[in-house]
Amino acid sequence: MSQTDAARPWEVQRRGLLLLISSPSGAGKTSLSRRLVADHDDLVLSISATTRAPRPGEEEGREYYFVTPERFDEMVAGGQLLEWAHVHDNRYGTPRAPVEAALAAGQDVLFDIDWQGAAQVRAALPEDSASVFVLPPSWADLARRLNARAQDSAAVIQRRLERGREEITHWGDYDYVIVNKNFDRAYADLGHIYRAERMKPTRNPWLPDFVRRLGSESLS
Ligand code: 5GP
Repeated sequence: MSQTDAARPWEVQRRGLLLLISSPSGAGKTSLSRRLVADHDDLVLSISATTRAPRPGEEEGREYYFVTPERFDEMVAGGQLLEWAHVHDNRYGTPRAPVEAALAAGQDVLFDIDWQGAAQVRAALPEDSASVFVLPPSWADLARRLNARAQDSAAVIQRRLERGREEITHWGDYDYVIVNKNFDRAYADLGHIYRAERMKPTRNPWLPDFVRRLGSESLS
């Protein structure tokens, strides 16, 4: 460790946090997640692989890695996914390597994944995970947001609403719950959760040395 590192250990010795965010489609989790990542240099978004087709405006490697079912099978067989699940007739999974690289570099990783994926990551890395469930203020609001998005057909929206009913039954498995009534308020709450989680002693391995040094400094 250099002299600067010793003086400001919190800048180098951090243990990455896995921040898991789930919600029914349309509750605002993607917008909340993307803004949190944009506002924090130490936080990166996990880009999932999916067998679903790109929506208008989506780009390979930005929203998702769009893969064929055969390629997805290979990724599963090769142990390349940290977790994966069937969601809305498609498969979605988290590539393992970028997450491991981010954690090794001391970065935090944000996951926009469904309850099944969150449960798998939580089980695999319980010490390093924190999870947030985002609820819509009402079902009518959720339907309105899905319709306003105009990215999916009426039948697809109907299926997403039905699946949302199932998704919300898992809210109790999460460490935190946010009702997204007002985006700015919900975003502020998410930021507070992230900051507070970062301040847990277990995520700051520099603390014991730091406090020992504080304790040995002269009192005068
Ligand atoms: P969408 O098709 O609307 O982009 O996403 C549908 C659902 O799949 C969302 O609830 C999203 O959080 C979830 N999802 C996206 N990526 C992953 C992933 O890698 N793993 C799991 N388990 N769920 C994912």
